[in-house]
Parts: sequence; structure tokens; C-alpha cells
Amino acid sequence: MAKLWNVAVVGATGAVGGQMIECLEERNFPVGKIRYLASARSAGEVLEFKGKPVMVEELTRDSFEGIDIALFSAGGDRSRDFCPAAAAAGAVCIDNSSAWRMDPDVPLVVPEVNPHAIADYRKKGIIANPNCSTIQMVVALKPLHDHAVIRRIVVSTYQAVSGTGKKAIEELQKQVVTLFQGKSPEVATYPHQIAFNCLPQIDSFGDNGYTKEEMKMVHETRKILEANIGVTATAVRVPVFYGHSESVNIETENKLTVATARELLAKAPGVELVDDPATSSYPMAIDAAGQDLTLVGRIREDESIANGLNLWVVADNIRKGAATNAVQIAEILIEKYLR
Ligand code: NAP
Repeated sequence: MAKLWNVAVVGATGAVGGQMIECLEERNFPVGKIRYLASARSAGEVLEFKGKPVMVEELTRDSFEGIDIALFSAGGDRSRDFCPAAAAAGAVCIDNSSAWRMDPDVPLVVPEVNPHAIADYRKKGIIANPNCSTIQMVVALKPLHDHAVIRRIVVSTYQAVSGTGKKAIEELQKQVVTLFQGKSPEVATYPHQIAFNCLPQIDSFGDNGYTKEEMKMVHETRKILEANIGVTATAVRVPVFYGHSESVNIETENKLTVATARELLAKAPGVELVDDPATSSYPMAIDAAGQDLTLVGRIREDESIANGLNLWVVADNIRKGAATNAVQIAEILIEKYLR
């Protein structure tokens, strides 16, 4: 009989944690014991795993006894505080927060792009899941980079509110209803109303005028692709519930035609090519939501430079951008490393 693995889901009551539970179920991950962890507020709440009740426990340093794999999605502070304790107890942590992503001793992994990096989990017992916007972009760009060598990336994102978690999803719903009732909506999660609006701010601003989210795309892309690519990003929150969209412009060292790019992307792992302008067929958030592929389309040459291409890249930020990517890492971990 195949070995079973004891798994802890840290942040089980959250948007990403809930999706992680679903992914473990859907992908039939060989789970032995499962433990759901969250804040004291949720302790005692009962969720399910494969139809059986599982009680949510408060996250403490002693939560990881007997756990093989800990999937963290409870915010950076919890990851910083509790991943070392989980690793010391013998669990391998797969962390969705930004806490460990740029640590040189922590691999930052997208299974379709750099699965070999997982081997470095041994250094700290932690593997980092990249930022949702970075994941879908590198899934689309890896085959193009391998073929033509990307020198520069200019990306603008159109990010769904689910990227901020459960409270932001509820806030967009409430604001839409309130506005249709002719009343002023309450603004709590973002600096401004998000309903019927676009906010060119995701996370806080740094001294260079870029937001943290924008700089994550710069640094994480280089670490994952293991290349000193020039990256500049503008990250925008849009009133969409699920699915991040991105306009991506690349400049390559070697010529990459639209036809070759389509060919490469049509057979790339984790990618679905949706690119038929004649039938208005292109990636859209409503099609990306609820599935795991990164949709790529609107591929056209950037006629303003010698070797440039424009693409439109869309994925489900909670699934491929977070939960699915983490569970895929866990699958490789048990197949190749833990045994
Ligand atoms: P969320 O819906 O707000 O859920 C937050 C989770 O963290 C809840 O389970 C919450 O438990 C738990 N938590 C909060 N404070 C805690 C504490 N003091 N001790 C223990 N647990 C605590 O947020 P989310 O969208 O799932 O995001 C969670 C993490 O994943 C964040 O680090 C985020 O950056 C990262 N992430 C999110 C996305 C995305 O697209 N949403 C993508 C990639 C990465 P309670 O219910 O008990 O408060």
C-alpha cells in the first residue's frame, strides 16, 4: 500500500487554506492524518476533509508533532514565527506567504518551471510558493525564455480581490449591493472603493515609488528563472472576484515569431493556448477561475522593437497562484525526496 502522509493546513479557514483542502481532496493526495490550524478565533470550528469532520485547532508551536508536510497560508508573520518550529518538529513547510521567498536558503518553486530547486528544501525545511502574479507569468514565459532568452519584461497586472483574502471578496460583494441601493459603500480593506474601480496600488509603496507587490514580481521572477532579467511591473487591483490577468511584454535576445511562440506555448506544461482573434477567443478571468491552467493569448509582435512580443496571461490566483502550486510541490516532494 502507498505510504500516507500527515498534513497540516495552517490558515485552513482562509481563502487559500480552503482551496488547499479542496486541492488535496481533488488530487487525491495520499493524506494519512490531517490537521487544520488557524487563529484562536476559529478554534473549535468544524470543517471537512473528504466528507469527514475535522476540528480547527489554534496554531501553536506544538501543532506539528507527527506532521510530515505543513502547508502554510496564514500570513507572513505566522510563517516567520511558526515555520522554523514546524521544521524543527520534522515537517517540511510549503509556505504561501512572502516571508521566506527571497531567503537564499529557501527554494522558490513553480513545478512547471524549476522543480529541481525543491532539493534545497533540506537547508531550512522550508519551500516557498511564489506570489500569485509571478507564478502565472513564469509558467507562460519559461518556454519562451528557454527558446529565445528573455532580456526584459514589462508587466501590468489586473488582480482579483480574492488575492487579498476572504474579507476583500465580501467587501466587493457588499459594495456592489450598496451602490445599487444608491447608498455610499463602506471602504475598509483597500484605501478606496474597489467596486466599479481600479486601484493602481497592491500592498504598500516603497521609497522607489513601486509597491511591494510590484517589486515581488521583479525579484521572484529572477530567482525562479535563475536569470538576471530586467523586470518592471505595475500591479492593479480590479473589481474581479477570481482570476488575475496580466499584460506581458517581453524583449528577447533571439527573434521569436508569433507562430513559434504559439507552438511553444501549445505544448508547454500547465499552459492552455487561447488565441484566436477571429473568434474573439482569448484568456478571460471568468474562464480561468476554478481550474489550474495558465491561459495565454493575444500573442502579437511588439512592432516598436526588433525582438519583442506581447501576451495576455490569465490564471486562477487562488488555485495555480497559491493552493494548486503548493500541492503540486508537495506531490514532487513525496515522490522524489521524502519517501
Ligand atoms: P484569508 O482569507 O484572510 O485567511 C487568512 C488565514 O490565516 C485564516 O485561516 C486565518 O485564521 C489565519 N490566521 C490569521 N491570523 C492568524 C493567527 N494569528 N494565527 C493563526 N492563524 C491566523 O487570507 P488568504 O487569502 O487565504 O491568504 C493567506 C496567505 O496566503 C497570505 O500570506 C497571503 O499573502 C498568501 N497568498 C494569498 C494568495 C491569494 O491569492 N489569496 C495567493 C498567494 C499567497 P482565522 O480564520 O482564524 O482568522
